[in-house]
Amino acid sequence: MSITVVGSIAYDAVRTPFGERRRMLGGAATHFALAASFFDTVRPVGPVGGDFATEDLRTLSVRGTITDDVVTVPGGETFFWSGVYGDDLNSRETLATELGVFADFQPRLSPAARACEVLFLANIQPSLQASVLDQCDGPRFTALDSMNLWIETARAELIAVIERVDCVILNDAEIRQLTGRHTLPDAARELLELGPEAVIAKQGEYGAALFTRDGFFSLPAYPLVSVVDPTGAGDTFAGGLVGYVAAARERTVSRELLAGAMAYGTALASFNVQEFGTERLARLSFDEVHARVAELHRFTQFEMPLLKETV
Ligand code: AMP
Repeated sequence: MSITVVGSIAYDAVRTPFGERRRMLGGAATHFALAASFFDTVRPVGPVGGDFATEDLRTLSVRGTITDDVVTVPGGETFFWSGVYGDDLNSRETLATELGVFADFQPRLSPAARACEVLFLANIQPSLQASVLDQCDGPRFTALDSMNLWIETARAELIAVIERVDCVILNDAEIRQLTGRHTLPDAARELLELGPEAVIAKQGEYGAALFTRDGFFSLPAYPLVSVVDPTGAGDTFAGGLVGYVAAARERTVSRELLAGAMAYGTALASFNVQEFGTERLARLSFDEVHARVAELHRFTQFEMPLLKETV
């Protein structure tokens, strides 16, 4: 049993109101893997340059993650992203994106990565997502993420991949941008018509919402008093969610299963943002995650005395 993820493995430079890091391990596949590794064996697929440090490969290998499909391109540079966050930590400006070895990346999966039970297509060119999907031997569950860049420059290719996956995980704003719809339920309905069983809207500090053909579920974010670095929150959320689905081993992906998956994704993302980059996830324990999921469960339950009569 394993989870394959394709996406960026990066160095990030980040400035937030609480400090900065000039060069830290990041990337969508990295954040996803660190979260999903609590649930199953993860195989990240992606290139790194000759500048990628051995200790970062060790961090990526935490909790049994297998890095055989991380290809080192000796003369090349690892993908580099740099961003700065506003005071509310919700707004982010990208200062630089240097593709490095990602520019010529053509994924070629090992037999073990192809045989995955669950596949996550993190935010990369939709044509590369399609190529990975083509190579896999029919995973039980597939999910994807994307971003405004691909919605603007490769919309048709992105729609074609969405038609082939079980679950779409996007930001609230990306779902609206992709569909041109004014309300999230209307936008989600349009995406569901393309084929996926579930659409999950990430809403940052406001939580996440799940839309299926016959159901809806919404979960707030874990209420944190202090957030240090939001980078990778979305990918960590996806890692917890997809990891939980992998561990549950259910054939059908029900609303209940996805609600539980969202709770684990939410708890893991909340730890991720409490420190820079991968720092917190690298030394997190499953007991801490369970405890936070239990708290979230408690926060979102309520008993309501029904009014006997109205005035
Ligand atoms: P998130 O905060 O969940 O949107 O994820 C941020 C992570 O995505 C960072 O660690 C970046 O290295 C990575 N990233 C940023 N821009 C891109 C891009 N254009 N393609 C792939 N990965 C990216």
